[in-house]
Amino acid sequence: MQIEFAKIEEKILKGDFDIINEKVIQNEFEFFTINNVNVSFRAYRIDINDVSIKEKIKGNITLICTNCLEEYTQDIDLSTETIFTKDKGFLGGEVTLTESELDVQYLEGETIDLKEEAIKTIDLFIPMSHTCKEDCKGLCPICGANRNINPCNCKIEKVDPRLQKLKEFLNKE
Ligand SMILES: [Zn+2]
Ligand SMILES: [Zn+2]
Repeated sequence: MQIEFAKIEEKILKGDFDIINEKVIQNEFEFFTINNVNVSFRAYRIDINDVSIKEKIKGNITLICTNCLEEYTQDIDLSTETIFTKDKGFLGGEVTLTESELDVQYLEGETIDLKEEAIKTIDLFIPMSHTCKEDCKGLCPICGANRNINPCNCKIEKVDPRLQKLKEFLNKE
């Protein structure tokens, strides 16, 4: 879903679209899947160089728990407003944006990709550490079992790293 910068008028343009079953690669090791998300948008022109795009992003995504590596579904309900500007000076500091969530972006091309913007917003919403449930027990560092499903009997000793060397030494004796 793309809109042309030049075609956005003062009168608010409304619309919506769905993103269904789309895998988003975050980096070498991580991805998430947008199962079913509806994006409703409002676009209007502020002045010759600037347009405002508001998006409401609602639905659910599938994430991989950073603790136990199992997939889980997360509901999302996000709203954003971005000002796309053709005026490099806008980013210069005359405007204070610290108090609001408003984001200002310099637009390189002539079109704004609403789908890409929504995906970016979802990506930013996902914290580095995200778990399937608040008390996810994670994987056992010894046998690799998912401790939410099968609690294993491995004994995890907490050894002071300073004592570890001594322990290794004593074990050799
Ligand atoms: Zn988990
Ligand atoms: Zn274990």
